[in-house]
Amino acid sequence: MRPGKRLWDPAAEAPSDWGAVQDALADEAVRLALERSREAWGRLRVAGVSHPERRGVEGLRAVPVLEKDDLPELQAADPPFGGMLGVDIGVLRRIHQSPGPISDPEGRKADFWRMAPAVRAAGFRSGDVVLNTFSYHLTPGGHMMDAGLREAGCVVVSGGVGNTAAQAAFASQVGATGYVGTPQFLLALLERGREGGIPATLRRALVSGAPLPPALRHRLEKGHGINVFQVYGTADVGAIAYECEAKRGWHIAPGVVVEVLDPGTREPTDPNSPGEVVVTSPNPVYPLVRFGTGDLSAFMPDACSCGRTSARLVGFLGRVGEGVKVRGMFVHPRQLAQALGAGTGVARYQGAVTAEDHRDILTVSVEARAGRGLDLDGLAERLREATRLRVDVRAVEPGTLAEDAGPLVDLR
Ligand SMILES: [Zn+2]
Repeated sequence: MRPGKRLWDPAAEAPSDWGAVQDALADEAVRLALERSREAWGRLRVAGVSHPERRGVEGLRAVPVLEKDDLPELQAADPPFGGMLGVDIGVLRRIHQSPGPISDPEGRKADFWRMAPAVRAAGFRSGDVVLNTFSYHLTPGGHMMDAGLREAGCVVVSGGVGNTAAQAAFASQVGATGYVGTPQFLLALLERGREGGIPATLRRALVSGAPLPPALRHRLEKGHGINVFQVYGTADVGAIAYECEAKRGWHIAPGVVVEVLDPGTREPTDPNSPGEVVVTSPNPVYPLVRFGTGDLSAFMPDACSCGRTSARLVGFLGRVGEGVKVRGMFVHPRQLAQALGAGTGVARYQGAVTAEDHRDILTVSVEARAGRGLDLDGLAERLREATRLRVDVRAVEPGTLAEDAGPLVDLR
């Protein structure tokens, strides 16, 4: 970091009343959606919202969530954008397609996807040479990061996907100090460079698009000396949240409203309780109201040491589709993993949801580690705490559960 250059923008990232800023963004998104989005207009009407009012985030509560998984069908029925485009198609800069398939618009505003704060939080500065290895073809990933890097004044090397050896050599040759892409491809590049005796120049990375397990982060940071930061976003919304130098959770990006909703009850979850990340975005080109990403996360309860006042998510906790509803409560495999983890003596487990007289029953079968006894009541209590449901725990003989037994199966 160069002295005197602040890593972030206090006005956008540390307002004195972050909640009031979220409320204003929600109101603006509703106003734009009523004016410009046929799709959102319909859902707002269902919730009794027919004209803009100052209702804040609370005012969104009655609006049904539009799930990202429903976009392909919606767009196919009303191509190309399912009635969600807020402007004439002719004023767009580009049109992309992301897996689904989903059509994604790109407006002409600089840094359309608001990536620059994440780029700056990762420590990239004006004049830095940065290798961007996200795809520039069809999907928007490459252009999303490209726009944010240029906004931050960086020099972009348009690497794109693949060509590991050529990219490793070229990044070194042009003296690239920054990397943008998946953490897995970063490791591949670094190892290819090391094998080939190519002088290492990369120092910091902004990764996205794939999970960053702690072991991989350790390898990149300790094994290769790369300072790694994460950004979370989608092609529809752009940046949603990103890491700061504290690297404890992801700060909500300026310009969007984020809610975390229980996928079963659709109520906001308490801090530390997982739920679906639902985003509202006052983007005039593509206004989104309560857009369900299908990703699971949770809000963190405490303030960050970096000084930003924006709320933080704990990170990526899985996909909603991996969970099941039990008695109206959403249960995710991760909650079982949390309850039956280290120190419990459990070697292998499987949760199964069945129904008796229309009542859901969650039974977790557990196998003990060799030479260990199991405290079944203790395990039931841990599972109850993790899932907020009464769970039947039953011990089974070691070897009963298949090696590849799914952690949670729905047998109803
Ligand atoms: Zn922070």
